[in-house]
Amino acid sequence: MIEFETVMAGSLEECLEALAKYGSDAALLAGGTDLYVLIETGMKLPKAVIHIGGVKELRDSKVKSGSVSIGTAVTHSEIDRLDVTEGVECLRAGARAIGSPQIRNVGTAGGNIANASPAADLYPPLMVLDAVLELRSLRGTREVGLEEFVAGPGITSLRPDELITCARFKRPEGRFYTGFAKIGLRDALAISVANAAVTVTSRNGKFDQVKIACGAVAPRPIRMKEVEALLTGQEPSAELIKQAGDMTSKQCDPITDIRASRDYRRQVAGVIVSRLIENASRELMMDGKEGATDA
Ligand SMILES: Cc1cc2nc3c(=O)[nH]c(=O)nc-3n(C[C@H](O)[C@H](O)[C@H](O)COP(=O)(O)OP(=O)(O)OC[C@H]3O[C@@H](n4cnc5c(N)ncnc54)[C@H](O)[C@@H]3O)c2cc1C
Repeated sequence: MIEFETVMAGSLEECLEALAKYGSDAALLAGGTDLYVLIETGMKLPKAVIHIGGVKELRDSKVKSGSVSIGTAVTHSEIDRLDVTEGVECLRAGARAIGSPQIRNVGTAGGNIANASPAADLYPPLMVLDAVLELRSLRGTREVGLEEFVAGPGITSLRPDELITCARFKRPEGRFYTGFAKIGLRDALAISVANAAVTVTSRNGKFDQVKIACGAVAPRPIRMKEVEALLTGQEPSAELIKQAGDMTSKQCDPITDIRASRDYRRQVAGVIVSRLIENASRELMMDGKEGATDA
């Protein structure tokens, strides 16, 4: 029988105190959709489980000084409905792509980020938004970018007495396109074989700022910096978009597993990135059209 102590945290302060007390013997429980699997399979055997789903401070989402802040106990269903995510379609589409309604109603942003799966669907959207995570402990607060935060499958820079309180990002401004796409083995309840998100702006008929991130194609979600550089300042063309897809495939370094082979993953990552860039070009280069859609 698996036994652990249960702490029902009523406030952020109580969470931090419990984390300081138990350290690496503790596990935070938000929606439990990843943690219960880890406990059941013996991959995590905490002495104390700290429930954080009801902590008000972690359920707060707001816009402050031009930055959107999403509390980490906010669920995927909520991310897709929040006023503050309106128009940030890559993030809404990423949240909508997770699991099933049941999973999205309990699974949280913080759980998806902290679990650090290479295939986690919120990473590419948050990466192309240049999101920063706020990490809190009784010792203080620090901020880290997502690329700095995640080092590999399940490996992050989170310290044993810390939790993630929110993810913060600036909304893209002016004329922009943002989208997310995912390839899974079925339409719902499918872990990504490859996923991708982009944010693109244009100026004078050319791509201006281009951000691309992919998941499930390397030990951790990654920004496609060379592909971004290839597109920046260029006029869209079928040849350029194909080149962007080919370059994406080359930059991927995935594994073969039960879901897909390494070659298939590389190929479909290139396809979804070129489709997203094609959508961006269509949306942005159309006269008078401004906004954001998903792939
Ligand atoms: C059937 C099924 C389908 C799924 N489909 C998908 C999918 O399509 N795409 C996808 O990306 N994921 C999927 N998942 C994985 C999972 O649902 C998500 O990763 C979810 O967001 C996890 O959130 P949670 O609140 O349930 O996390 P929990 O299980 O509560 O926690 C997960 C981990 O994060 C830690 N943690 C939680 N909150 C914090 C915090 N604020 N600070 C620090 N650490 C924290 C916990 O201690 C634990 O180690 C699926 C899972 C299941 C069971």
